[in-house]
Amino acid sequence: MFAKLPDKIVTPNKDGSARVLAIANQKGGVGKTTTAVNLATAMAACDKRVLIIDIDAQGNASTGLGLEAPNRKITSYDLLIGRNNASEAVVKTSIPNLSLIPSSVDLSGAEIELIDADRREYRLKDTIKTILHDFDYILIDCPPALGLLTLNAFCASDAVLVPLQCEFYALEGLSHLIRTIERVKRAFNPRLEIQGVVLTMYDKRNNLSDMVAADVRDYFGDKVYETVIPRNVRVSEAPSHGKPVLLYDVNCRGSQAYIHLASEILKRERRLSA
Ligand code: ADP
Ligand code: MG
Repeated sequence: MFAKLPDKIVTPNKDGSARVLAIANQKGGVGKTTTAVNLATAMAACDKRVLIIDIDAQGNASTGLGLEAPNRKITSYDLLIGRNNASEAVVKTSIPNLSLIPSSVDLSGAEIELIDADRREYRLKDTIKTILHDFDYILIDCPPALGLLTLNAFCASDAVLVPLQCEFYALEGLSHLIRTIERVKRAFNPRLEIQGVVLTMYDKRNNLSDMVAADVRDYFGDKVYETVIPRNVRVSEAPSHGKPVLLYDVNCRGSQAYIHLASEILKRERRLSA
């Protein structure tokens, strides 16, 4: 089922540590969590050791991987406030090679709690240092805001992957996001890059989808992945079963698109490491 994925890929960071990718867009409902969960699943199926860190108080990535709130013990919140070590928070999912650091509703107050904390922008970076060699890829599922939590994700990451919904206001939000990433790069994390932009919830019956896609490609050129994620009802059904769509219905168009996306990203990563 994953035949299209390249099978021999080196871990991009030369010292053998995980590549850390933040999945971010300050808009809610654009496909961040869906992309994090399904991309991670496709990478894991490709024999990569993958970790998802859920830093959204809503915890959709945790639920979507079958870990309901009452079963979450040590969470990303505990790491950010320095109560636990990262290795204590990692739980295995039912998917081989895929682990998770779940979120907690307490994250909703974390930005205020951390106002006076030491190295408040680097809390996530500092805490995951000890587990970087346990994984090939770490994907951080960000909340829908450009606050301190997302800033922590940007400071901890090598690159940002931006899911973009094909709709009218998408471009406006995107330029704000790009300016923010550039500012973070200058002030906090010089190695931060944009890994790419993925167009999500594409509806081929809707002309606007095409217009937005063309505009984004004009502006960002080959930073935009060739793979486009179609709007597909199977994708939206999967989380209520606590499964990635790749396990829920591997043959649906949404699953196939995420398999292609993983392949494209891993190839791009290989070029970056060459
Ligand atoms: P975000 O994390 O950016 O808030 P989500 O990934 O949670 O966005 O997606 C928002 C909603 O849209 C969810 O209900 C999700 O199931 C649905 N969704 C995401 N991608 C697709 C898709 N390709 N087709 C149909 N529904 C989708
Ligand atoms: Mg989300």
